Amino acid sequence: MSGKLRALLKSPWVFHLSTGSCNNCDIEILDCLTPRFDIERFGMVLAGSIKHADVLLVTGSGNRKSMERVKRIYQQMPKPALVVAIGECAMSRGMFIHSYNCPVPIDKVLPIDIYIPGCPPKPEAIIAGIVKLITKVKGKK
Ligand code: SF4
Repeated sequence: MSGKLRALLKSPWVFHLSTGSCNNCDIEILDCLTPRFDIERFGMVLAGSIKHADVLLVTGSGNRKSMERVKRIYQQMPKPALVVAIGECAMSRGMFIHSYNCPVPIDKVLPIDIYIPGCPPKPEAIIAGIVKLITKVKGKK
């Protein structure tokens, strides 16, 4: 296992990216950072720059305008990088699946490692999803 992955297991730095959502999933992610859910106690920190992030948290259905930016942001992540799709929109485009403006699901553009369902998922579900992601990475040792 690479040094970067080993560090990620102890303290994953996450970067939050909305690709065009209704913002409820984003609010639930922010809730994880509040003292009530306090994800920092697990070593998870919100990274201010994509260049410092280990894990990309993606919300929203993606659209014609945002998908090019999404690709560029992912390219700037140091590798190995992990990607988590949060909410129905990020999983399958949710209620926007028939929209002219959302031609492809996000997993056609980004290599998603784990999906967290819900509209929006609760903070507990988001934290459980990240723990599953870490367990999955540990399994690859
Ligand atoms: S999954 Fe639901 S809550 Fe999340 S961005 Fe889509 S519509 Fe909003």
